[in-house]
Amino acid sequence: MNHPQSNEENPFQAMEARFDLAAARLGLEPNVIAVLRACEREITVSIPVVMDDGSVRVFEGYRVQHSTSRGPAKGGIRYAPNVNRDEVRALAAWMTWKCAVVNVPFGGGKGGVICDPFKLSKGELERITRRYVSGIMDILGPDRDVPAPDMNTDGQVMAWLMDTYSMHQRSYIPAIVTGKPVSLGGSLGRVEATGRGVMLVTREALRHLGMNPAQCTAAVQGAGNVGLISALQLQKLGVKVVAISDIHGAVHNPKGLDLEAVRAHLQKHRRLDGFDGGTRIGNAEILELPVDILVPAATENVITSKNAANIKAKIITEGANGPCTAGADTILDQKGIFVIPDILANAGGVTVSYFEWVQDRMAFFWTQKEVEDRMEHIMVESFAAVVDMAKRFQVSNRIAAYMLGVNRVAETTRMRGIYA
Ligand code: GLU
Repeated sequence: MNHPQSNEENPFQAMEARFDLAAARLGLEPNVIAVLRACEREITVSIPVVMDDGSVRVFEGYRVQHSTSRGPAKGGIRYAPNVNRDEVRALAAWMTWKCAVVNVPFGGGKGGVICDPFKLSKGELERITRRYVSGIMDILGPDRDVPAPDMNTDGQVMAWLMDTYSMHQRSYIPAIVTGKPVSLGGSLGRVEATGRGVMLVTREALRHLGMNPAQCTAAVQGAGNVGLISALQLQKLGVKVVAISDIHGAVHNPKGLDLEAVRAHLQKHRRLDGFDGGTRIGNAEILELPVDILVPAATENVITSKNAANIKAKIITEGANGPCTAGADTILDQKGIFVIPDILANAGGVTVSYFEWVQDRMAFFWTQKEVEDRMEHIMVESFAAVVDMAKRFQVSNRIAAYMLGVNRVAETTRMRGIYA
């Protein structure tokens, strides 16, 4: 277990710590707090899979629905060796608050399968996916729970999910999942959406703080779909990206990285190792570089009470879910760092997932420009709403974002009433 209980690195406790602060500041009634703190439904499935060598291995998978108060549960599926139930619960709750912050009509859910996709063949991955989907299928549905990609899952995995579900239902049901390939009812602009959203809220933060992007540097932790695209998008904005990392380490070039070369290297080797356009540094070091913008876009708990004091960036844009612990929040606040919290910063992905779901249900597809314009509008408005909340209540951006999201879910919870 990678996340020991009862310490700052338990992600569900990290979520609850912020939720409690926001609920107290909003003055929520205890009954509503009790409902919102609990996950509505969780299932654990065992996933027996015939491996390529003929042996059978049994994997474990989860799907957690934290809330369906505002709409179907929505959230990704991650494949990772250290994923665990508490982490999936936290990620599901973060999806609830995130969807509410950007005001899309979804609740929150998340799924996970304990496996190491880097050690599996494509056939094994497909069999794991199909068996996992058939195990959780009873609680899925376009009006119940709509999965999407997350760490180590992609359009291909979503295509297998859509096919498995559709075969069982004897119908073509693309709206069961988002993040699909465009040819299967995916949306234009979905692949780039999270990274583009990271750029848009960073741009808004720079405007808000009166900083010029062309005079700013950035370091990006993570080179997956979120990290790499955030880096490319920030560069387009005029920011000089000086460092990027993957799980094995980082590359640093104070003159600015050639990100197209990084992308080509990653496509060829699947890891940054051997990239010669910069100096090799460690994954902890990248967080402490003297840059203006830091984008943690890898995983949870990378900025904690142990290293928060060493952060030099003026802006932290959380591309990952839960990269800062609650202990780190206090230190970052004291240092006056402008944190754009995960449930706002990485919400571009689920926003375009919402557009994908809408398009699938209409069977009528939008242009890339329509997708981008609508997403930009939502991200810019949500950023303004969070900053406004922070000012009005004199709280951090993080607590302001929670207050905005939690309040919207509290409202529907109250209106729907307790069905007892
Ligand atoms: N996995 C992404 C997230 O954490 C996207 C979820 C979705 O599009 O449903 O926000």
